[in-house]
Amino acid sequence: MSYPNYDIIIVGTGPAGLGAAFHLVEHSPSLSILMVDREKICSGGLLNDCKQNYTFPIGFDVENWSKEEAERLLPLVEKWLQPVIKEKQNIEIYRRRAERLDTSLLDVRQAHVGTDRSLVLIRRLRDELSRRGVQFLLEREVTDVFDNASGTGIVISGTETVGGGKVIVAPGRKGFSFLQQVMERMGISYIDNVVDVGIRIETKHENYPIVNDYYDPKFLFPNNVRTFCTNSGHARVVLERYQGFTLVNGHALSEHQSGNNLVNFALLKTIGLKDPVRSGQQMAVFLARLANEIGGGMPLMQRVGDFRMGKRSSGDTFNEDLYDFPPSCQVTPGDLGLAVPAKIMRHLWEALKRLDTIVPGILHPSTIMYYPEIKMYANKPTFLDRHFRVSANVYMAGDGAGTSRGITGAWASGIRVSEGIQQRTDVDL
Ligand SMILES: Cc1cc2nc3c(=O)[nH]c(=O)nc-3n(C[C@H](O)[C@H](O)[C@H](O)COP(=O)(O)OP(=O)(O)OC[C@H]3O[C@@H](n4cnc5c(N)ncnc54)[C@H](O)[C@@H]3O)c2cc1C
Repeated sequence: MSYPNYDIIIVGTGPAGLGAAFHLVEHSPSLSILMVDREKICSGGLLNDCKQNYTFPIGFDVENWSKEEAERLLPLVEKWLQPVIKEKQNIEIYRRRAERLDTSLLDVRQAHVGTDRSLVLIRRLRDELSRRGVQFLLEREVTDVFDNASGTGIVISGTETVGGGKVIVAPGRKGFSFLQQVMERMGISYIDNVVDVGIRIETKHENYPIVNDYYDPKFLFPNNVRTFCTNSGHARVVLERYQGFTLVNGHALSEHQSGNNLVNFALLKTIGLKDPVRSGQQMAVFLARLANEIGGGMPLMQRVGDFRMGKRSSGDTFNEDLYDFPPSCQVTPGDLGLAVPAKIMRHLWEALKRLDTIVPGILHPSTIMYYPEIKMYANKPTFLDRHFRVSANVYMAGDGAGTSRGITGAWASGIRVSEGIQQRTDVDL
């Protein structure tokens, strides 16, 4: 099958791709745009939970973003996503407690859609783009990107070629390996030296009541540990499957759904790797496979009560006595101590103890720690300009390219790419 040439091809229909597309259709409506995705619907956080953070630096990569640049673009992100910002209360009380423990609590403007409602949002966005002439090619995997003397474009499923004036590659975290392959083939240098490794905590709502005041509280602890992606209401821990290993993540349904009395959030430690170990991806895969191996092919979970006593959790004892709520995600009861590197576990545990002083209750014996939750963000290409250009006509943006770490940052990254393209469009296309 052959496709016509397009002015712009966007690989990935996640927030980075959408941010680029909306900005282009608004400011350069005559451009022909094709968006390609290997899924039927974008597969990242826009679909899962869709918590939106509108405060720098949440969701932004600080090496690529200044506060001013992010604050210039965040209102444009808001314009299309139309968030309902959540109220917060009693922040000062928690903040004072946190400061006494060398911990900060960020005050973040947030909105939450919920997994059951996100499809409505995605459909609205896609319909709007279709109405403005953007073409979609879904359930088609892009296998290569080229930009050479014979032209610029993409290869689909290894055989079909589509030409484009400019190509925006925004394949998200799951496109990590694809992006690396493209960069290696195109001779684009990149670094991949940062990884977040951590656990997902699940507890009863009453053990973490701060969520009544602040939907997704962002605590920054010593040793580069932070809370991330808190879910409550109808909240569940979920599996995130990659080729050869499985991680955990979390999400929640919208406020319209009845609650399940559970809260979950990630506790992550950021690790900057130095010589001779330099690949965050390799380290993540290694750690995840080790944990999955110990868990018989699945992630692990352990109750805080067992962890404190230095004994593994087991299926038989998992829901007895004080361990009085069933896990929302059935993975393998076991011993995190066997799987999490000691230094990481120590720093996570120290952070949990601080958190238990700020919000007493989180270290209840029934609280579950799931592992591994790992974020492989940083596959950072060497950019040729501030619009995330990597070759004459190819741009890379979003979580996969390390320009963002969340929906709003990814969307803003897409806008920044589009601004770069617009500056060159009159001359090039
Ligand atoms: C389960 C889960 C929950 C999350 N919850 C939140 C949240 O609540 N709030 C938040 O801010 N962030 C959340 N995130 C993170 C969020 O998903 C990302 O920060 C954001 O989506 C990044 O946007 P992106 O456009 O770079 O990538 P993505 O949203 O991941 O989109 C990339 C798209 O590219 C497609 N793709 C990849 N490779 C190819 C290929 N070779 N060919 C064709 N298409 C391809 C994928 O199918 C995908 O649809 C969550 C992530 C996960 C996995």
